[in-house]
Amino acid sequence: MKSDFTNNITHELKTPIAVAYAATDALLNFHQADNPTKRERYLRICQEQLQHLSGLVEQILSMSMERRKTFRLHLEEVRLKEILPPLIEQHKLKADKPVRISLQITPEELTVTADRTHLTNMLSNLLDNAVKYSLEHADIAVSCRLCQENEETYTEICVSDCGIGIARECLPHIFDKFYRVPTGNRHEVKGYGLGLFYVKTMIEKHGGTIHVTSEPGKGSRFTLQFKKA
Ligand code: ADP
Repeated sequence: MKSDFTNNITHELKTPIAVAYAATDALLNFHQADNPTKRERYLRICQEQLQHLSGLVEQILSMSMERRKTFRLHLEEVRLKEILPPLIEQHKLKADKPVRISLQITPEELTVTADRTHLTNMLSNLLDNAVKYSLEHADIAVSCRLCQENEETYTEICVSDCGIGIARECLPHIFDKFYRVPTGNRHEVKGYGLGLFYVKTMIEKHGGTIHVTSEPGKGSRFTLQFKKA
């Protein structure tokens, strides 16, 4: 499984590098930079490819992360209304299908004690999946609230979709490294089975939890709980 992964990811990494290289080559060596429209187009290609690469690198790093002893979180009070709207906008823009994402934050100023970068990555992975595992169009709801359990206060963030759902027997495995629900090549959705592994590892580093409920054909709901500092 791992060597399969290495082969696939090598290919995945080479493609954006080759594309970005070709775009910079056109700008530097073929005078395409003289034309403002073309310059803009080639620079945009470079930017998109670099964004794609950075996502891949993030996923690869997450594999070794669990063993790193020096790993440190930079905790701060992050206001959800600062990070969620732009993240939702990005996911709508990059989606290859019609996507609707509703957002509810109660109270409006709700914060979470977290590392801003990793929190953003976690939410981004959940949103990615909600879009990927929905069929023709994605209907997603993000809701954030305070909740009280066992005399502890938590900030709870739910991402629910109306997508293909997950069979009950697969649910216990979805957070495992490299695990993907077997589809028999039906839904050819790209991935490496690392996104949820990353989210689970990271939420645990924050002292929080992740829960999932799902019903095949109806949709899935992922809930993150962060302890309030
Ligand atoms: P992948 O790169 O395969 O998407 P993840 O670790 O993010 O890896 O998810 C593991 C598996 O869990 C996925 O392959 C998919 O089968 C299933 N899964 C994750 N999120 C959802 C979702 N929102 N709806 C349905 N299935 C999901």
